[in-house]
Amino acid sequence: MSEDFYEVLGVSRDASEDEIQEAYREKAREYHPDVSDEPDAEEKFKKAKKAKEVLTDEEQRQMYDQLGHDRYVEADKHGATDNGGRGAGGMGGMGGGMGGGQGPFGDMSDIFETFFGGGGGGGGSNRPRQGRDLRTGLTIDLEDAYHGVEKELNVTRPDTCSDCNGEGHPPDTDSQQCPECNGRGQTTTVQQTPMGRVQQRQTCRRCEGEGTIYDETCSTCRGDGVVREDASLSVEIPAGIEDGQTLRMEREGAPGERGGPKGDLLIEVTVRDHPDFERDGADLHHQEPISFPQAVFGDTIEVPTVDGAVELDVPGGTQSGETFRLSGKGMPRLRRRGDGDLYVQVQVVTPDSLNEDQRKALEAFAEAGGEEVEVEQGFFEKIKSSF
Ligand code: ZN
Repeated sequence: MSEDFYEVLGVSRDASEDEIQEAYREKAREYHPDVSDEPDAEEKFKKAKKAKEVLTDEEQRQMYDQLGHDRYVEADKHGATDNGGRGAGGMGGMGGGMGGGQGPFGDMSDIFETFFGGGGGGGGSNRPRQGRDLRTGLTIDLEDAYHGVEKELNVTRPDTCSDCNGEGHPPDTDSQQCPECNGRGQTTTVQQTPMGRVQQRQTCRRCEGEGTIYDETCSTCRGDGVVREDASLSVEIPAGIEDGQTLRMEREGAPGERGGPKGDLLIEVTVRDHPDFERDGADLHHQEPISFPQAVFGDTIEVPTVDGAVELDVPGGTQSGETFRLSGKGMPRLRRRGDGDLYVQVQVVTPDSLNEDQRKALEAFAEAGGEEVEVEQGFFEKIKSSF
């Protein structure tokens, strides 16, 4: 079972950092949970991410090359390779607050930082960092998708603590240099490995890289600088939206770190199935039953559209299964002109019971066409009893 980081990314052992980044982006796009249906996409994504993290960190890559995969992973388990890359996170995930829409990708929202600007590079620095993107879901009816709708969305999300402005300590608290790292924000450890001594720098755990410690922590947020906030947002859902599409509300996600901007809120829209219509992009499909005489003689029938019933002329001699196209009676196209079409497939219904008059008429019909129909004794009885 090859798990070699270079092979995971599909790069040579002397690949440059740019090549590794590019290879990672490609893998990330392939296994992005929004595009990949593969059941193990999340697992593959995580592997690619781990490989990228190790191989783009000069110290860790050196160590990886020296130790080889298995021994590196073993050392990694024991924390010998940890360089504190996550920075001062604090929030510990979103909690269950985002409602049902978070899905199986709860802890994956940080992948969007890689995709759409934001941090990259990993933590450890004191640069401002954009907040994480948050994901939630919203379910609407086909009628809403047809007309477009404004929906109220209630979310519980992290927000900057207003009592301490996100600092994690009251504004007037005394501070002192962190004694653990002497104000540098980083500590250095020397690790004995089978290949000799390896020096590792990590973000100071005491001050979380700030270099300063405070005499008091904020009681509102317990020092996280972040609190849970219940927000009610008005979401504009455009006409023509399709099931599974994601809307992005900019700057409605998690608060940034060290003055960085908020992340975005991603809303995955689910469109409920409709009993009358199957949707195929902007087109709709509908099945309408008609009687045998209607199919023979033709008739004007009523068929539903999302916007109310319309009339359809069924010509004489129509076969069961024939499809009629009602141009422009489908769904609007998202942010484009013109509507899709409505396809009506007619099904000629064979009667499952006949009264005496109907039976005689049908026998006469068959006879007139030169057909001989032997109606089995008890045929209609049998059908009746099966209902
Ligand atoms: Zn606070």
